[in-house]
Amino acid sequence: MHSLSARQCTIASIVNFSGIGVHSGLPVNLSIEPAASNSGIKICRILDDGSRSKPSDVHYSKILSTNLCTKIDLGNSISAATIEHVVSALSGLGVDNALIALNGAECPILDGSAMPFVQAIVDCGLKILPEKRKYIKILRSVRVRNNDAFAVLEPYNGRALDLEIDFDSPVIGRQRMIFDWTPRQYVEDVAKARTFGFLTDAKALRQSGHALGSSLENSIAVDDNEILNPEGLRFDDEFVRHKLLDAIGDLALGGLPIYGKFRSFKGGHGLNALVLSSLFANEENFEIANADELPLDFDALDDLPDGLNVESYLRSVG
Ligand SMILES: [Zn+2]
Repeated sequence: MHSLSARQCTIASIVNFSGIGVHSGLPVNLSIEPAASNSGIKICRILDDGSRSKPSDVHYSKILSTNLCTKIDLGNSISAATIEHVVSALSGLGVDNALIALNGAECPILDGSAMPFVQAIVDCGLKILPEKRKYIKILRSVRVRNNDAFAVLEPYNGRALDLEIDFDSPVIGRQRMIFDWTPRQYVEDVAKARTFGFLTDAKALRQSGHALGSSLENSIAVDDNEILNPEGLRFDDEFVRHKLLDAIGDLALGGLPIYGKFRSFKGGHGLNALVLSSLFANEENFEIANADELPLDFDALDDLPDGLNVESYLRSVG
């Protein structure tokens, strides 16, 4: 395999975003900053006095809630919500180490996909670090379920997701996507898929203080038989692609990239968190492996020489 795909990376410089929280409706600034080898993805809050909270691992053990979004405990009664899209962008691009800093309680929703994060990270470029990348290699199948919904992590020579959804809505219905991860495939097939919601749920959500920032600018709105967004869908099956985007973000809360296959049916943030905690509940289910011990070879962003901007690499992706 290419030697560089075995090495960790971070982003080359700080990237900044401004937007609103989809649930809070409040303005928020978020930055992603470079971080050292073996630090993983961390998150902190910039407090009203300008100080920073202690960076906290983006880790399944810190999950406070998976209701509508994934919310992480940062200690001292502060938290960060709706982390899944920015974390998906980092994980999907193969960024091992980064610090996310935000000055509000919820990450900005931007256009409802991971693409604005991806574009900014790609524009800024990646920095290859000296240390080897590590993976969580799945050794035994782990399965969790909730009625007919389930999520599975199982041994597999590669990094794959096989995700199926089934909505009682004629514009969504049953959709399945099988995805073999590479950074390039993530950018082409996953990153642009937007979050979605049903008009019938919107009123109750708003009354309970959720979805206050949601609009056609950042969500696909589904009415009984139609999509309300005038521009339509970005993919015919944008819904399952967004669920896959969410799953990539949620599974990054394992702390290291997973080497194996994830399967789910009618899944979501809750089952994704549960399958991780079940995996780590038994040490015989997994092992930590160095990248050069694994048969994983991909046409990766991190195959590029140190310091080279990846923008030209991805220009052909569009
Ligand atoms: Zn999402």
